[in-house]
Amino acid sequence: MEFCPECGAILLPMNKKLKCKCGYERSLSDEVKDQYEVKGETNPKAEVIVTDNKNVALPTTTITCYKCGGTKGYWWTVQTRSADEAPTNFIRCAKCGNTWRSSN
Ligand SMILES: [Zn+2]
Ligand SMILES: [Zn+2]
Repeated sequence: MEFCPECGAILLPMNKKLKCKCGYERSLSDEVKDQYEVKGETNPKAEVIVTDNKNVALPTTTITCYKCGGTKGYWWTVQTRSADEAPTNFIRCAKCGNTWRSSN
């Protein structure tokens, strides 16, 4: 989030620029663009994020989180790309939210 140095209002991204209602504008830096643009579909995490938006109760399982050592996790299955491929299991640590693909 960027703020206008003239009036303090929030700058809105428009045509590769940040614009303020007071008339102030400046070019988007690459760093700022990352904050506003939706990540491309080449990002493997996109599959996980889609599942995040579904408000479903996920089954729990016993895990060992490699980040925090937590032992309770949620799991779900995502059918990736073509139906010919085996579905991928994802696991999320209930403690720290760390998410990874299950190997089995
Ligand atoms: Zn302004
Ligand atoms: Zn964890």
